[in-house]
Amino acid sequence: MKVDVLTLFPEMFGGVFGTSILGKAQTKGLVSLNAVNFRNYATNKHNTVDDTPYGGGGGMVLKPDPIFAAVEDILDQREEATVPTMKAPRIILMCPQGETFTQQKAEELVQEDHLIFICGHYEGYDERIREFLVTDELSIGDYVLTGGELPAMVAIDSVVRLIPGVLGNETSAVTDSFSTGLLEYPHYTRPPEFRGMKVPDVLLSGHHLNIDAWRREQSLLRTLERRPDMLESAELTDKERIWLEE
Ligand code: SAM
Repeated sequence: MKVDVLTLFPEMFGGVFGTSILGKAQTKGLVSLNAVNFRNYATNKHNTVDDTPYGGGGGMVLKPDPIFAAVEDILDQREEATVPTMKAPRIILMCPQGETFTQQKAEELVQEDHLIFICGHYEGYDERIREFLVTDELSIGDYVLTGGELPAMVAIDSVVRLIPGVLGNETSAVTDSFSTGLLEYPHYTRPPEFRGMKVPDVLLSGHHLNIDAWRREQSLLRTLERRPDMLESAELTDKERIWLEE
């Protein structure tokens, strides 16, 4: 997978793209992560990328021309590299007005070959970017941040960790909260007793069927307690539904 991020602050991505699981994913050749400063595509004397809004009002608005030019340059480079089997990229605008990012959206985006994220700043974007350039608009939640970099990092991290081979054998996305439609069960590790606090006996029993049953039960209880809304669409057996209703 190829991921390009258009940003005014590419240095913010250095640590995130180069460290830990995302860094290893790049070293293994599973993903190519690239931060592009769209200021480099400004054509005016002072390299400005923003301007005052038509109609007045506060704040500055990101101009369309540098962002269109940066995306077009990425598309031209793809053509030059002639990768005929590569699907057209998804061009994703990070904005608080977008569709709320979820695990399901991450699972959808990991099927793509190429993602281009656009990070806004200031008051927002010229509307023509939204209308004529992007394929998706994503929000990471109902709050407003100063820029799209942190939201883009959140989305990229959660997509890249789903690429097969990115997580080692020791970590698996399969049982993660939301992947199963439920919240994940509790985890314990050594020591078996810490300051009088004990690990549940079943986890020390070595009996895998009982452990799986306990984990499923804990997942259901935890979801009921913290996110009962998720149970509506979760895949449950009739027995489980009756048990939860009791
Ligand atoms: N005036 C805009 C509005 O009310 O919708 C908010 C602009 S915000 C200060 C600047 C930029 O930060 C946005 O263009 C977007 O890229 C990013 N941003 C802020 N909050 C976000 C969120 N919850 N999800 C995704 N991006 C966000």
